[in-house]
Amino acid sequence: MSFAELGLSPELLRAVTEAGYTEPTPIQAQAIPVILAGKDIMGGAQTGTGKTAGFTLPLLQRLLPYASASTSPAKHPVRALIIAPTRELAVQVHQSVVTYSKYVPLRSTCIYGGVDMKAQVAELKRGIEIVVATPGRLLDHVEQKTILLQNVEFLILDEADRMLDMGFIPDIRRILNLLPAQRQSLLFSATFSDEIKKLADSMLRAPQLIEV
Ligand code: AMP
Repeated sequence: MSFAELGLSPELLRAVTEAGYTEPTPIQAQAIPVILAGKDIMGGAQTGTGKTAGFTLPLLQRLLPYASASTSPAKHPVRALIIAPTRELAVQVHQSVVTYSKYVPLRSTCIYGGVDMKAQVAELKRGIEIVVATPGRLLDHVEQKTILLQNVEFLILDEADRMLDMGFIPDIRRILNLLPAQRQSLLFSATFSDEIKKLADSMLRAPQLIEV
């Protein structure tokens, strides 16, 4: 099985080749076709399995129709939201987005707490298709109306079990209430407690279960 056989476009295959990957990891082989088909996923995967590329590559492909070289912010509404529990993880996921989107004119940024909001607000004002965020700071931007979520079509919740441990589930539920119902959602977690399953029930539609 190769990345090309999974149905990834040439721009993405080029970035994958440059990253030095020769074949997909098991979670990538399972998740990429399902995400490309527009289905929701409940994914059981630890870090180190290649799950980040497993959701980022097909997400970028799903966003390709929106890729635009236009400098007008109106041409770049937020289409995808990736939520991570910590600043470190958010930065790491955003780095993957940057790496794999090298040959695609899609814009991304990372927003997290503990730093001034000004630079993040300036970034968001430019127009950004893909936002990687920690939950609290995302809600700060929502409250200040410096981010609009009405065009979000893709939601990815990474390391949901850690979000639960850190007490972020109420924040996540608030965010869910702000998103269009018509969207594709992916939830990744290393473990599936009853609380995670409950969250998955309220967030996912007919999800495909993927475990590695
Ligand atoms: P992750 O589980 O997403 O944190 O990824 C773990 C590491 O595996 C990262 O350093 C990736 O760059 C690397 N990686 C992801 N996919 C592949 C692949 N198909 N082949 C080789 N390395 C990969």
